[in-house]
Amino acid sequence: MIDYLIVGAGLFGATCARVLTDTGRSVVVIERRGHIAGNCYDENWSGCYVNRYGGHIFHTSSKRIWEFVNRFAEFRQYEHRVKAQFQGKTYSFPPNLTTFDQIGMKPGPEAEQRIREMFFAGYTTKQWARPLHKVSASVVGRIPIRYTYDDRYFSDRYQGLPEYGYTRMVEKMLAGIPVELNTDFLSDVEYWRGKATKVIYSGPLDALFGFEFGALGYRSLRFETEMLSVDNYQGCATLNYTDLHIPWTRVMEWKHFGWHSQPKGETIITREYPAADGEPYYPIKDARNTELYARYAERLSELPWLMVGGRLGSYRYYNMDQVIAQALAMATSQYE
Ligand SMILES: Cc1cc2nc3c(=O)[nH]c(=O)nc-3n(C[C@H](O)[C@H](O)[C@H](O)COP(=O)(O)OP(=O)(O)OC[C@H]3O[C@@H](n4cnc5c(N)ncnc54)[C@H](O)[C@@H]3O)c2cc1C
Repeated sequence: MIDYLIVGAGLFGATCARVLTDTGRSVVVIERRGHIAGNCYDENWSGCYVNRYGGHIFHTSSKRIWEFVNRFAEFRQYEHRVKAQFQGKTYSFPPNLTTFDQIGMKPGPEAEQRIREMFFAGYTTKQWARPLHKVSASVVGRIPIRYTYDDRYFSDRYQGLPEYGYTRMVEKMLAGIPVELNTDFLSDVEYWRGKATKVIYSGPLDALFGFEFGALGYRSLRFETEMLSVDNYQGCATLNYTDLHIPWTRVMEWKHFGWHSQPKGETIITREYPAADGEPYYPIKDARNTELYARYAERLSELPWLMVGGRLGSYRYYNMDQVIAQALAMATSQYE
């Protein structure tokens, strides 16, 4: 019998596992995929660390979280910069004073309207399969218009990339902790429950209850990664494609993430296509799903041996620092 079974070896599970182990609890982690690190998982392609589930940049304003992740990886300073392409022309993004200059308009309501049409209307319709005015304000508000020349994608105090990728970082977080890959908790809940006093679950909440009330809605993505025989494909780490008729939403070019070892005469890019089906990435926060989530969350109180968290368990879009903060709070609540 162990103290904690942790379901999911993403950042949420790995943080809980580390903290509980460090305070003397016995812990086992199970993971249904064939690898650790959850959606931050990356692989070394010719010296660049390529994320399998979309580009990940670490950013936080919390000194505590920054110090926590720096225990497991050396972070290289990196500030993410994105550009946006509209009708074949490239603009500074997120919209800032340079963007106003580029569209030849002075800041004000008319220019803001134009910026919404150029950069948000098509992109958002592709990403969410619904027009801009039907997308929740929390999503649209994530990318503001700035009245400065600051073109950094994130404005947090601490920003960077782990020098040898996230997979290596999570490997260090899990050092000395037993991890069983290709192991699905839901395929035998009773068996796993019998092994531990408590279970911490970071998988999808609806799946935990056999989709009893229906499936929670998500938008997904499809990624196409390829090596091209050119030195420099697009001149920036991320280029957003905001025209509705272009099927992908953005292209990552990994060498612009600044890895010190880089392929010469070739470059690796990933095209990101929005999709209705596939891995659950972005929760669709409409009335139906909000109500559904509340019904599932209520069922949790019937299971005192189970704690649920992470982006899937909480049915929330969390950045990496937010998920670590949630895990630290949950794990420390076990002994404080
Ligand atoms: C395209 C994209 C880009 C992103 N970019 C950034 C970024 O730049 N910066 C940032 O801070 N955040 C970013 N994020 C958010 C980041 O991915 C999440 O914050 C983080 O992955 C959440 O960690 P987690 O452990 O909660 O979930 P996950 O990483 O999804 O880990 C959960 C794990 O649980 C496993 N699991 C699920 N069910 C079971 C089961 N039944 N049995 C066993 N195992 C199970 C899963 O296989 C998975 O490995 C991005 C997200 C997306 C979708």
